[in-house]
Amino acid sequence: MKRFWSLKIIKSTGIQISATSPGIVTTVALLVLPLLALTTPDVLSPVLTQDTVRRSGTQETETTPAADDAPNQLRTVVLDAGHGGKDPGTHGRYVKEKNINLDLILQLGRKIKNKHPNIRVIYTRSSDHFVDLYERGAIANRNRADLFISIHCNASPSSSQVNGTETYTLGLHKTQRNLDVARRENAVILQEKNYQQTYKGFDPNSPLATIMLANYQHAFMGSSINFAEKIEHSFRRDAERKSNGVKQAGFIVLWKATMPSVLIESGYLTNPSEENYLRSAEGQDEISSAIYKAFLQYKQEVEAGG
Ligand SMILES: [Zn+2]
Repeated sequence: MKRFWSLKIIKSTGIQISATSPGIVTTVALLVLPLLALTTPDVLSPVLTQDTVRRSGTQETETTPAADDAPNQLRTVVLDAGHGGKDPGTHGRYVKEKNINLDLILQLGRKIKNKHPNIRVIYTRSSDHFVDLYERGAIANRNRADLFISIHCNASPSSSQVNGTETYTLGLHKTQRNLDVARRENAVILQEKNYQQTYKGFDPNSPLATIMLANYQHAFMGSSINFAEKIEHSFRRDAERKSNGVKQAGFIVLWKATMPSVLIESGYLTNPSEENYLRSAEGQDEISSAIYKAFLQYKQEVEAGG
């Protein structure tokens, strides 16, 4: 029988899980993993510690350092344009997702910098190149970011009518559709060098793998959902978009980030009119403005001690 997951945490906890039955290992994982989530996330995968992350192929664009003058101040935000380089993401009739993501993230970064010159804005990529999924969160960790925002575009293989925005936080998916979105976004690890070693045999198609992921980000779940709700509200109110709401699923890109983190699906490239909106200057300005407004609201709330 196929071996679905093997987990060894000998050094830190003495725990070892290995199983040949997905049913058994799922049960064990559901019992043990919530406890592990209370420990440091790096115990599960020592290979991913900050000291060993591979820096090649990334571009950290750093701006003015923030002043260290208030305990709750939001000082650093990491902006992540999904996909890039050899990984185009999904595509519409005219555009590739990676290019729309980059346009949106750069516009959002400019809006934040214009209004808040003391905030450090760091991009996981600021041009068209490939960045490993785990490296994106590692960039945020290395820079002690206060917030991680990943922007993507969605796809519906079954219908060109499906449209609207959705914002994800890391968590256990409640519907097959949410799982499908995460699987599609996670599938890129198969294009990464040494992915089997890096992700310790993580199989993007395994239900157990998403349960594993869902237990991370536990400490930041409330803040992440709060920010995600502000984004979806702003999409509805300010950009008059159809909002499909805040959802949870197991996205690898959010896995290792040790701060509030969201992944925004800014619209469906498989819907022709939404594709036209996403690639238009007006549409991109509305989307990035709506995210910025949510960011501002969240920042004010955090800094007020909420
Ligand atoms: Zn994507």
